[in-house]
Order: sequence, then structure tokens, then C-alpha cells
Amino acid sequence: MKDPKFSPESLMMSYGYKPELSEGAIKPPVFQTSTFVFKTAEEGKAFFEIAYGIRGKEEEEELGLIYSRINNPNLEILENRLCLWDKADDCAVFESGMSAISTVLLEFLKPGDLLLFSSPVYGGTDHFINHFLPKIGVHAVGFTPNQTKEEIIQLIEDTGKADKLAMVYIETPANPTNALIDISECKEIADHFSTDEKQVYLTTDNTYMGPLWSHPLGLGADLVLYSATKYIGGHSDLIAGAVLGNAELMQRVKVLRTFLGNMASPNTCWLLTRSLETLKVRMDQQAKNAMVVADFLNNHELVNKVSYLGLIEEGTEEYELYKKQYSSPGAMISFYIKGGEKEAFVFLNNLELFKLAVSLGSTESLAQHPASMTHIGLEPAHKENIGITDQLVRLSIGVENADDLITDISNAFNSI
Ligand SMILES: *Cc1c(COP(=O)(O)O)cnc(C)c1O
Repeated sequence: MKDPKFSPESLMMSYGYKPELSEGAIKPPVFQTSTFVFKTAEEGKAFFEIAYGIRGKEEEEELGLIYSRINNPNLEILENRLCLWDKADDCAVFESGMSAISTVLLEFLKPGDLLLFSSPVYGGTDHFINHFLPKIGVHAVGFTPNQTKEEIIQLIEDTGKADKLAMVYIETPANPTNALIDISECKEIADHFSTDEKQVYLTTDNTYMGPLWSHPLGLGADLVLYSATKYIGGHSDLIAGAVLGNAELMQRVKVLRTFLGNMASPNTCWLLTRSLETLKVRMDQQAKNAMVVADFLNNHELVNKVSYLGLIEEGTEEYELYKKQYSSPGAMISFYIKGGEKEAFVFLNNLELFKLAVSLGSTESLAQHPASMTHIGLEPAHKENIGITDQLVRLSIGVENADDLITDISNAFNSI
């Protein structure tokens, strides 16, 4: 997309919406309608040709409104605004993060193909890759953040299906450990296995950093994915997802979405549009609070280790990568409590302001125990290998008063 005149946070209140088309209303109404009236039959035909991918758009031609499974003003305004943060050509919003992820994997993988993915990935993604994709003949191989580029290339060669590699799928920072994966290095791996006939695409799930603190498309990713349930929605009151990328790839994603019918509803889009107005202030405050909380944890006698990007030691390779990929340490903190599951549970059960719940990126602070909750499905040996032990507690930091968060954490520690 061409550079707009103002910063994304300045455009979140107005971009992509024309009040004159809605009786002058300063905010978009909810377009609670299933279908749209065409001016002429010729117009209807032209809209369908584009929506079904029968022909590309002419220069300056826009896809007109057809039917709310294909497009709707609330969906389009939201998609246009989301494009600003990642400087993407186009965006598709879905009814959940999982529907965004599964639609991308279904569109770009076919029977016989090989998928390379980083592990750990989000539990739902892991399940889809390891339990659904094999049913349609797609093979997958996982790598861990500590493996080098050479080791990963060898791993792909060892499958005997290197010529079938179709996609590299990564999640960074890894949930829940905050381990980093080098996006440009993954692009080099994808390019290494690309040929004249076949490009291997790189997809990054950027949920952990929201659209604010990292822009994977600028670092070599072909597609970037979000669970919009998290920072983008930000209020723990909806489920949604988004995919962004160049016009050609997004046309493919949108055509499949039309036929799977998993777009977000006008009401969900309206809520997300409202959430976007405060995205930057919320995330800035969350990151500010997280620094205070991480510092406190790092100095607490009942904590063995804190995994938080703001505590990566300067001068290390990891620090270089952190600085290259992220503009903030974010608001996700994991820490290893002294003891085991018992101590972790006493801590969690005695939090008052923090809510004991999975999910992340919301205005309220959340705490959970990955080994027995979000990541319970992983093989025990694999869990151990990637650092998801019984001592690990994950925090998502909200917008509360930071001193209150410290008081709450301190009280919970005192009950151990
Ligand atoms: C929550 C989450 C998802 C799944 O999104 P839903 O909106 O719950 O479907 C995918 N990836 C990551 C990293 C997540 O945190």
C-alpha cells in the first residue's frame, strides 16, 4: 500500500469510512443486512466476476457490495484500517483466529505437500497441523527455536519430501516461553526450497505482538496472521481473526473464505473497529505495566527465572534479534516459580485482580499455568524440551494501575 499522510493511530477513528454515505453519521452504523441492491444487472455481473476470482480488478475498480458472506461495509472498513499497521495491500477478517489460520493452511497446502512449522505454536494450530492436515495427506515437520538454519534445512531434507515443501509457518515470540524465531532466516529457508515453478510461502502468527510492536511483512513474511480476539479486540468480549498480505495472496484467501463462509459478522467487525481506536494507548499502557511487573518478578525470592523480552541481556545475539524484530518488549511475561505445580496453583488461586483465565492481550490482566492448561496436549518430553514445566506461570498484563498489579502478585506469593 502507498504511505498514508498520517500515522495509523491517527487514522483509526476515520480511515476507510465516508460519513456522507451514512447520513453524515460520524461513526459507521452496524450494517445489519444480508444482501445489497445492485444498480443494474451489469453491475451485479461485474461484482461477481471479481468476487469469484474470474478476473482481476481493473485499475481503480473496487469490488462493490454483494452479499454479507462476501463483503459488508463493517468488514471492509475494519480490513482497510488493519492494513495500515502492517502496511499490507489487503486484509481478510475471520470469525476467529483459528478460522484465519485454518483457511490459510487449506488454501496454500494440498495433498502430498510438506509444511515446516515452529514449535511451540498455539495449541489449536498444533492440533490442526498434527491431527487434521494428515487426514488430507499434508505432512508436517516441526522445529524448535534453538535449532540453527542449517539444522532446519537438514530436518527438511531428512523427511525425503523437501521438493514438496509448500509453506513455512512460524509463531514468534513463541507462546508461552517468549523464545524468538528469526523471521528473515525463515524467509531464507523458504527461498532455499523455492523453485521457478513453486514459491514456498512464509506465514507468521503475530498475535503475541499485536499489529503494533512487530511487522513481519517488512521482515520477509508473505502472510501475517492474528487472533483478533487478543490485542486487536482487546476487551475479552469477542472472538475474531485476521490475515494480511499482498494483493495476489489475499485474493486467494478471500475467495476461499467466501466458500468456507467464515468471515466475521457485521457486529463483530463494528466492535473491532471501535477497539482499534484505542489500540495504541491500550498496548502502550500494557507494555509500560509489563516492564514494572517483570522487574518486580525478577527480584522476587520465590521466582527462579523470568522470560520477558525486556530482560534479554544486551550484547547477545538474542538481543540483536529482539531489537531487529520488535519495537517493544510487549506485555506477555512468563516466569518459573520456585517449587512445582503445587506452588504455581497456590499463587494462581490467590490472585485477586489478575483473573485466572487463558487468552491474552486484553485490558484486564490474566494469569494461567501453560503446562496444565493451554499446552496440556503436548508430549511431556517435548514440553520439557521447550521449557514448559510445572513451574511456569504465564501472565498477560492489562491496563490497571501497575502498583495494584504488584500488590496482587505480592499477596499471592505471600500465601505460598
Ligand atoms: C488465541 C490464539 C490463536 C487462536 O485464536 P482464536 O481467536 O482463539 O481462534 C492463534 N494464535 C495465537 C498465538 C493465539 O494466542
